Amino acid sequence: MIIDCHGHYTTAPIEHETWRKKQLSAFTDGLPSPSYPAITDDEIRESIEQNQLRLLRERGADMTIFSPRASAMGHHLGDERISGEWARACNDLIARVAGLFPDTFIGVCQLPQSPGADLKASVAELERCVLELGFVGCNLNPDPSGGMWTSPPLTDRYWYPMYEKMCELDVPAMVHVSASANPNFHATGAHYINADTTAFMQFIQGDLFADFPELRLVIPHGGGAVPYHWGRYRGLADILKKPPLAEHVMRNVSFDTCVYHQPGINLLFDVIDVGNILFGSEMVGAVRGIDPETGHYFDDTKRYVDALDLDEADAAAVYSGNARRVYPRLGQALSARGL
Ligand SMILES: [Zn+2]
Repeated sequence: MIIDCHGHYTTAPIEHETWRKKQLSAFTDGLPSPSYPAITDDEIRESIEQNQLRLLRERGADMTIFSPRASAMGHHLGDERISGEWARACNDLIARVAGLFPDTFIGVCQLPQSPGADLKASVAELERCVLELGFVGCNLNPDPSGGMWTSPPLTDRYWYPMYEKMCELDVPAMVHVSASANPNFHATGAHYINADTTAFMQFIQGDLFADFPELRLVIPHGGGAVPYHWGRYRGLADILKKPPLAEHVMRNVSFDTCVYHQPGINLLFDVIDVGNILFGSEMVGAVRGIDPETGHYFDDTKRYVDALDLDEADAAAVYSGNARRVYPRLGQALSARGL
């Protein structure tokens, strides 16, 4: 079985995005939000069958851990109420996709974060999504300001209510920023990779996993710059008098395989223990084109992982076992189906 741990609903029906635009303009005008439009099951089916489902089948994967479009989370827009309405609308739509395609998609939620707000609403939405909608995790934005970095580091107690709820529900978070409101940082080219790298360094500097030994976090996009600079991070952990990374961070943190070329994947697997790597593609997502050097889609990451020629046990870990361990509610759902 092949589980893609990182997919977003980037092809949601247009009414969904149109509502978001109207919601934000109503906010600007000081008006109440418009009511959410009716979207039919057929519209949802079509948006998935033509895109994610088709590509999943063509590329040979079985299942996607599926979340709302990350770049559209826009936590920096509006206020906490606006983020709450939007997160709920996005998560309800993901639940409908998972309901229509239960063998192929399982939900991960967007949180109603907002700069300066506490995490009460995010904790409540996580609980709703896991207990009522059957979701198996969340996307946690370390920078709801959209590139201004006004929140405390992920190791700060500010975040602890979320971690407590994640541990109670036994769900992980993918550390995932959204759009960039800072023109210095291109969203998917700089802001995403900066955030991945920043989160990892925060985990080194802090002692978060001493307080939460069961907490699990996935750093996407291959761990940002971390695997390439692994020696730097090992050296910094040493200078900061922290335990070796294997103990200090890597019991709790995994990376995905959203690295869009073969040498990058080779390096990831050379450097990072196979038990810390989850197969992911982030399709249909940030880099949708075809690589002229190979003739294949950049985000067809299974091709790169297959080319590693992993032994059977390692391939099973990367393609499904690690995902089932990190997302135990997914593992339970699959086991209940005899998978
Ligand atoms: Zn993503």
